[in-house]
Amino acid sequence: MISNTDLFERAQQFIPGGVNSPVRAFLSVGGCPRFIKKAYGPYIWDAEGKQYIDYVGSWGPAILGHSNPEVINSVIEAVKNGLSFGAPTEGETELAKLIISRIPSIEQIRLVSSGTEATMTAIRLARGFTNKTKIIKFEGCYHGHSDSLLVKAGSGLLTLGQPTSSGVPTSFIKDTIVLEFNNIESVEKAFEQHGKNIACIIVEPIAGNMNLVKPKEGFLKFLRNICTQNNSLLIFDEVMTGFRVGLRSAQGLFGISPDITTLAKIIGGGLPVGAIGARKNIMEHLAPQGGVYQAGTLSGNPIAVAAGIATLKQLGKPDFYENLAKNTNLLTSELQRVGRKAGFQFSSDFVGGMFGIYFNNMVPTSFIEASSCNSELFKCFFHEMLDQGVYLAPSSFEAGFLSSTHDENVIQKTIDIAEKVFRKLEKQT
Ligand SMILES: *Cc1c(COP(=O)(O)O)cnc(C)c1O
Repeated sequence: MISNTDLFERAQQFIPGGVNSPVRAFLSVGGCPRFIKKAYGPYIWDAEGKQYIDYVGSWGPAILGHSNPEVINSVIEAVKNGLSFGAPTEGETELAKLIISRIPSIEQIRLVSSGTEATMTAIRLARGFTNKTKIIKFEGCYHGHSDSLLVKAGSGLLTLGQPTSSGVPTSFIKDTIVLEFNNIESVEKAFEQHGKNIACIIVEPIAGNMNLVKPKEGFLKFLRNICTQNNSLLIFDEVMTGFRVGLRSAQGLFGISPDITTLAKIIGGGLPVGAIGARKNIMEHLAPQGGVYQAGTLSGNPIAVAAGIATLKQLGKPDFYENLAKNTNLLTSELQRVGRKAGFQFSSDFVGGMFGIYFNNMVPTSFIEASSCNSELFKCFFHEMLDQGVYLAPSSFEAGFLSSTHDENVIQKTIDIAEKVFRKLEKQT
């Protein structure tokens, strides 16, 4: 058997940093990333055969747990007919219809292969539709890795302590206005200054790439109104929150209709799918109908679409989201209880099947507050939990995820382990 350490050493020779997406490298927590061999339900197994309870869930897609039998079967059936045709298939319409039936602000969908592609296209579409140039994004929100959105971004960039990427010319980001999440005044000022030329606001309706940070009461409604008043478009980047926090996603939860929605992660059920959705009069600006160009060799890939359909169908089961939220609440409230009992400044929060844990006595409401959590303590906690068989996101700037297979037993086991770990950390600090 080859060890994680050997695999990582070998990977580093041939792949920059040994990984194909930066956070996987464990840079901010230190130590050796686990090379995963297989996954089933709430569990993953590494190359050394060690089992972990997984709270990353492939960063969101695995809402039904890993290797969901219906999803795997759909994929196997689809594979038998060939892998990719570069021509339309019936399944693409079926997936589009499933999404549209659940998210009322969407009348038409264009499928792509990642969240990055979806947000990049959404920005181009907003600019093409409005004939305006500037865009507003919020510090700590992550919208994929296209140039104009890599300014003060969350997720891996935050983890590496380098929130703005090098290699992005300032001319590419001069039209990106970066404001503070949950700060209404800063948005008002930006519109006073540039209102005539603001194409769109793009926002994670529940921020999940600077740990979990909820919108304050009225924040999203304010964004909706100011966009409408200025003929700018509101883009909800629901790549993470889409079908994660409820069947109608974050927009359904808050009762706010964005103009454009971007999706990915869950809608691909573990395979590469992203989507841009909006009203018809916006979507018709996309090629081939309109002048905003967008394309993809593997867009709407039949295997990926089959996984997406099989996943979305199961989310409509009665009480699916009620149970998911109940279990997520159990996990986070119990973690908070045992953490505080051991004397730590520790908080937690959740929405639907996503959660945040914070080494701080208050749940953060902004990027600044999210960054002020104790990252040294998180590091220790992360590694002790990992040793004991609980796989948390290897960064304090990422949200955690539950699946429908994380039942009370799995959660109780996690809490028991956490209680032991907190007690051990208490002695050390
Ligand atoms: C994950 C994520 C993206 C990027 O999606 P990829 O499929 O990784 O390109 C964009 N926006 C949000 C909110 C995300 O969570």
